[in-house]
Amino acid sequence: MASSRDQKCYLCGNDLFDPINRDHVPPRRFFAPEIRKQFAVQLITLPTHAACNERWRLDEEYFVHTLLPFARGSISGDALWRDGIARFTRGENVPLANQVLKEFQHVVGGVILPANRVAKRIDPDRAHDVIYKIARGLHYHHHGEILPPLWNCHFTITPPGEPPPEVFTVLTDANLLNSRGSYQGVFAYSFHKFPEMNDLHVWAMLLWDRIIVTLIFHDPACKCEDCTFIGPVLPHSGV
Ligand SMILES: [Zn+2]
Ligand SMILES: [Zn+2]
Repeated sequence: MASSRDQKCYLCGNDLFDPINRDHVPPRRFFAPEIRKQFAVQLITLPTHAACNERWRLDEEYFVHTLLPFARGSISGDALWRDGIARFTRGENVPLANQVLKEFQHVVGGVILPANRVAKRIDPDRAHDVIYKIARGLHYHHHGEILPPLWNCHFTITPPGEPPPEVFTVLTDANLLNSRGSYQGVFAYSFHKFPEMNDLHVWAMLLWDRIIVTLIFHDPACKCEDCTFIGPVLPHSGV
């Protein structure tokens, strides 16, 4: 029996109508083919308009490519890296791979420059869209609530070997990280809402056991000055 929550597309918030397909949370692309085969991976899927789902496809592709060099060093990261090389060899995504190579020109002689300088080279808008989409999908999966398509978020991406951001250590020190996810060697996540801070949402994700991603945003019902000023911003409102 379809629940009422399945009648809406979590990406745009509107009623579902054909063509519909199922969006994977996190993106299926996070899993190398050999990992998918080995673990018979069953991801969370959510019904979406095919067009809405398609809107994120290239950003997800970019996101994986741009983080691939940092994913190496774990089982799932190495598998993804091998898959990336194989795709490149087959001539897939050559322009994207070249773009990403340019972004990583500052990786000199195997020494990676500090995280804040690395992060600047990652397209922040595209990274934001992918990270926030994952959080929206998981939030919908757990709570049945659709977060606004556009919302003011702060995120960090920390490559291996760099100190985690303060928000992350605050969570771990307070024992608030409750790691979830069926394949945590590929993708683990945790979220916490702080009622004493206007229901601030704080998320932490671990990608390929290598890269820490944090995401902070105010609750959609927040009435603080920033939120009433900024949002909710509706899609196609020209912002
Ligand atoms: Zn939609
Ligand atoms: Zn607010």
